[in-house]
Amino acid sequence: MSSTSGSAEGLHPTLYGDSTASVHIGETRIRAHDAITAPVIFSATYTFADTNALIDFQEGRVFREEYGRYGNPTVRAAEAKLAALEVGAESDDVAALLCSCGMNAVTTVLLAMLPAGSHLVITDDCYRRTRQFVRTMLARLGVQHTVVSACDYAGIEEAVQPETRLIVSESPTNPYLRVLDLERVVAIAQRRKVKTLIDATFATPYNIRPLNYGIDLVIHSATKYLGGHNDVLAGVVVGGAPIIAALREAQAMLGGICDPHSAYLLLRGLKTLALRMERQNANGFAVARFLSEHPRIKRVHYPGLPDHPDHTVAAAQMRGWGGVVSFEFDGDIHATSRFIDRLRLPYIGPSLGGVESLVEQPALMSYYELTSEERLAVGICDNLVRLSCGVEDTDDLIADLAQALESA
Ligand SMILES: *Cc1c(COP(=O)(O)O)cnc(C)c1O
Repeated sequence: MSSTSGSAEGLHPTLYGDSTASVHIGETRIRAHDAITAPVIFSATYTFADTNALIDFQEGRVFREEYGRYGNPTVRAAEAKLAALEVGAESDDVAALLCSCGMNAVTTVLLAMLPAGSHLVITDDCYRRTRQFVRTMLARLGVQHTVVSACDYAGIEEAVQPETRLIVSESPTNPYLRVLDLERVVAIAQRRKVKTLIDATFATPYNIRPLNYGIDLVIHSATKYLGGHNDVLAGVVVGGAPIIAALREAQAMLGGICDPHSAYLLLRGLKTLALRMERQNANGFAVARFLSEHPRIKRVHYPGLPDHPDHTVAAAQMRGWGGVVSFEFDGDIHATSRFIDRLRLPYIGPSLGGVESLVEQPALMSYYELTSEERLAVGICDNLVRLSCGVEDTDDLIADLAQALESA
C-alpha cells in the first residue's frame, strides 16, 4: 500500500475529523501531472522496460502493477481510502480488497475461507442473496451452515461446532435493523476460535467501525452509501493485511475485480461520505420519530427509537442510526401500495444509501416470488415498507410522508 499512502508526506488523518478524513485520508499528496484527482488508469496490462525490470518485480524489489486482474492504480487508491476510513487511520496492518459488487465481496470471502466439510454460523434477517448463496451453492460444495436469529448470542455460541470457521452477520440487519453487540460476538468468536465477518453496508464506517472491536472482516456493498449516488456497483472487504492478501489471491482466480472507472466513481463518492451520512442519519431519525407518532403507522423499526430491541447497544457502538427506516403501515398489502404510490419524493426501487430517497415494499420487491405465508416465515409482512432516506431536506421528506398518510 506504500505507493498510494499519503502518510509519508505528513498527513496524519487520525488528527482530523470525519469530513476531512473522507476527503483526504488514503489519498497520495503527490500525483501524476499535478492533478488534484486520482488518475483513472485504463490499462489491461503493464509493461516492463527489460528483463531485469521484470526480475526486480518478481523478486519483490519494486512494487508496481503487472496485469489488470491483479491490480490497478485507481482501484488501489480507492482501496487505500476504504481501508483507512474503516479504522479511522492509515495503517499498514489493515487493507481493503475492492470487488465488482457487494455480492462478489460476499462470495469471494466465503469461497476463499470455507473448505469442504467446514461450517459457518449465519444470522437471519440478512441480505436475501447471501442467504441463498449459503443455502444453495456453498451447500453443494460441502459447506454446512446454521441459521441463528440475529442478536441471539446464546444461540450463536451454541451453533458453533468443531468444524465452524466463520460467524457471519449483518449489522444493522435488513430490513429490521437489528444491531449486533460486537463486543459479545467477538468474545464468543475468541472463546471458540472462529473468525467473524460483518456486512456493515447499512452502517458505513461513518456509523460503525467493527474492526476496532476485534471483528476480523468487514464487507460493504459500496453500491449503497459508499458510492452514494446510485451510479456505480462495487463491493469491498476490509480486514488485516494478511487475510486480505489471501483474498486477493482468491480474487485473482475468481476474477470479480472492480474496473477503474467504477473505482473512480467510488473515490469521488467517498469524499462526501461524512457530509452525506450526517444528513442521512438526521433524516432517518426525524422520519422514524415522525412515523412512530403517526396513527396510520403500526410499528417503526429503527435503532434510534427507545423501543427498538437494540437501542442501548446501538447507542453505545454507533455514531448515527442510519438513513434506512422500516415500518409497518396500518393496512393490507394493497393499502400499503396505495400509500407508497402517493409519495412524491422517494422513487420506488430496490437499493438504498444514495442521495435520492428510495422506497420499497419488500413483499412486492425482493420477496415477490414467495407466497404470503412463505414471506411471513422469513419475517417479511405484507404491510412492511423500507424507506432509504436520501439527502433531501428533512422537512420536505416529512411533509411528503404526511401528505401521503393524510389521504391514506
Ligand atoms: C446490496 C447489498 C448487498 C449486495 O451488494 P451489491 O453491490 O448489490 O452486489 C449485500 N449486502 C447488503 C446488506 C446489501 O444491502
